[in-house]
Amino acid sequence: MKTDRRQMMGALAAFALSACSTKPASETSSTNPTTPSATMKKDSFGKLPNGDPADLYTLNNSNGVSVSITTYGGRVVALKTPDKKGAVADIVLGFDSLDGYLGDNPYFGALIGRYGNRIGKAQFTLAGKVYKLFANDGPNSLHGGKQGFDKVLWTGADKSTTDTPAVELRYTSKDGEEGYPGTLAGIVTYSLTPQNELKIEYKATTDKPTVLNLTNHTYWNLSGAGEGDVLGHHMMIVASKFTPVDKTLIPTGELKSLDGSPLDFRTATAIGARIDNDDQQLKFGKGYDHNFVCDSTGGALARCALVHEPNSGRTMEVLTTQPGVQFYTGNFLDGKIKGKGGKVYAKRGAFCLETQHFPDSPNKPNFPTSELKPGEEYKYTTVYKFGAA
Ligand code: BGC
Repeated sequence: MKTDRRQMMGALAAFALSACSTKPASETSSTNPTTPSATMKKDSFGKLPNGDPADLYTLNNSNGVSVSITTYGGRVVALKTPDKKGAVADIVLGFDSLDGYLGDNPYFGALIGRYGNRIGKAQFTLAGKVYKLFANDGPNSLHGGKQGFDKVLWTGADKSTTDTPAVELRYTSKDGEEGYPGTLAGIVTYSLTPQNELKIEYKATTDKPTVLNLTNHTYWNLSGAGEGDVLGHHMMIVASKFTPVDKTLIPTGELKSLDGSPLDFRTATAIGARIDNDDQQLKFGKGYDHNFVCDSTGGALARCALVHEPNSGRTMEVLTTQPGVQFYTGNFLDGKIKGKGGKVYAKRGAFCLETQHFPDSPNKPNFPTSELKPGEEYKYTTVYKFGAA
């Protein structure tokens, strides 16, 4: 794929500038001549097989951006945002109704826990004790096991302020649930700011030492969900190193320099430009499916990625306090899932940027620790900021 680097850099530079200022509502939402105000709406999203009701919270800001979140799995069901001409599209993959989410799907929009990403051989040792997990990805445990946080019902509460609609989701996971020790009380708050940011704040406490790695697994396509693949999106990831994996996608333990690698996205590059390269890591992942080590350290909120889709002009900036981000290019999507509006989700029809601690950290003493002890508070923030340039 040929990349017009000058054009791309120009658009990204324009975005970087626009990211510093918030456009008035009238400029960002030319399809809506009246200035809408920030609102929050709660609707029914159907019933789980056991009869429990799932809710759908829809948050609108005053710039015509909206996000819908269901209490089932804490999933982002829709995110609607204008392109450079003001035309609004839904840019996340998913389903029109709860039934789709209850069926087989690869974690669309979901909150992931207790441990996002893989734990090798589906086990870890903590304080000398071996904990066995459910192996749902070959020999490994992926995204919390059989019934992770993506498949449980969270309790929602409206936490909106005047200009920032927000929903708080709570879920308490029992001691031993999915093999993990400790009663874990999790609180995740989604808010939509007037600066067009979807902010996700994660908090948790435990009554026994445990391991934890919460993330969000939204599949993004800045052209609109179901509008082809994302190979023409330009990706920048602020990372000089990554954690190479073996053929089962478990990190080897090395933090490897990205110098000269087709995984180096420090300069914005089309996702498709090198994805089918002969590189062994890309072969293992069937494309990009790797944890990048964010250059920012010390837990301050910092940019870890910036994405630009040239036709629509939509941009998404990702900021996080986490040390890592999994860049996954929907390599396992295969066109079989019919999503919203009957649209088919093609191979590489979306990308995920899952902010996180590194995969398999409980078995990798040299990685930043994912352990949480009683009396400590697990707390982190990720921001997805939308624009058009
Ligand atoms: C993983 C992929 C996996 C996908 C959906 C991603 O976080 O890295 O390997 O296929 O989730 O399950």
